[in-house]
Amino acid sequence: TLARVSGYDLQVPLVQGGTATYANFDYAASAPALEQVTNRVQELLPFYASVHRGAGYASRVSTDCYEAARNTVARFLNAADDQCVVFTRNTTDSLNLLASCVPGDTVVLDTEHHANFLPWVRNGRRVVRAADTIEETIQRLVAELCAKPAALLAITGASNVTGELLPIERLAWIAHQCGTRILVDAAQLAPHRRIDLQASGIDYVAFSGHKLYAPFGAGVLVGRRDWLDTAQPYLAGGGAVREVSATETEWAPAPQRHEAGSPNVLGVAALAAACDALAALDETTVTEHELYLSHRLRYGLKTIPGVNFLRIWRDSTDAVGIVAFTIDGFEPGRVAAYLSAEHGIGVRDGRFCAHPLLAALGVDGALRASLGLGSTAADVDRLIDAVSALVENGPRWNYARTEGHWNP
Ligand code: PMP
Repeated sequence: TLARVSGYDLQVPLVQGGTATYANFDYAASAPALEQVTNRVQELLPFYASVHRGAGYASRVSTDCYEAARNTVARFLNAADDQCVVFTRNTTDSLNLLASCVPGDTVVLDTEHHANFLPWVRNGRRVVRAADTIEETIQRLVAELCAKPAALLAITGASNVTGELLPIERLAWIAHQCGTRILVDAAQLAPHRRIDLQASGIDYVAFSGHKLYAPFGAGVLVGRRDWLDTAQPYLAGGGAVREVSATETEWAPAPQRHEAGSPNVLGVAALAAACDALAALDETTVTEHELYLSHRLRYGLKTIPGVNFLRIWRDSTDAVGIVAFTIDGFEPGRVAAYLSAEHGIGVRDGRFCAHPLLAALGVDGALRASLGLGSTAADVDRLIDAVSALVENGPRWNYARTEGHWNP
């Protein structure tokens, strides 16, 4: 492991009796908290108070902590002076907020997570179908952006299905040539790679605390102020205004304009602690750790008959630690249930909130093993052995998919 994460020694019951140490391969869904994050939450939990609303000591500390977190996030992303940090609930919330502010069309690819697809397409569909190479996909995007002006290109930094990366700096340059701004959905990118807004030219970025080794409830939208300042407030309520009378309302500028309601100071402090902890790690070490483990996993799974990997682009050369696969003759939901019940291994199965992509790849479900800072080679070997045993021994088990398990 590269870092101590919560739940690293969790013991889970096995169907055949006994227990196993939980092997977490679901970092892409939600990552366990880093030790520094847990410590920060424990520090604040005893006396947190309302932000921006009280003169008492606890309220002042909470307010300082909330505003300091804004600076931490801006520093983490090397945001420019004309970019501001809006705290939201998660990536989905951030993208819906930005969708409510964009003064024009948005172009998206069909490879996106629903969170970076549905908020845009419900205002008109400008969906570009991805080709089987990145080069051809970029040509299609260029053609779309040249054919008709668009305000925004909304693109994922790293696919939540395959982990594959797009060249976002190049896409930012292309978008800007067409007079289009770029948003990067960094839900999967931010936990794994440094994002430098100024160096890359990214106008807007969104991500979630709970995928960045912090608990649930806080996310960010960081980006250029002008659209955020002029749009209608995302939510109307306390904190989003400068002055209200019975007949008139003067809204505050961004970020307060879009942060109505008592803010989630604990979630935001946790997210900021995660940013600091990640910034203190050496990026190359993190990338190499993950690359080593994902290669080990791929290599091991590849030797098992019937295992097929999902891949969007033939020419992609880089990915974060996500391995998505199917096994011929085995229903993904049942494999996931088997891995959990007999081996204490947690993976994700289904369509990963990316139905258009799964349809384009010609599969109606798959398994996804995702890695992070707490992943180990021993866990990877357990997963390979468990899949191998399953394929070798045939489908002897009869796990139903977990009852009531809603699997979008
Ligand atoms: N975008 C991507 C690429 C994701 O992987 C996810 C979460 N799976 C989201 C957006 C949505 O994140 P959240 O559920 O935290 O809003």
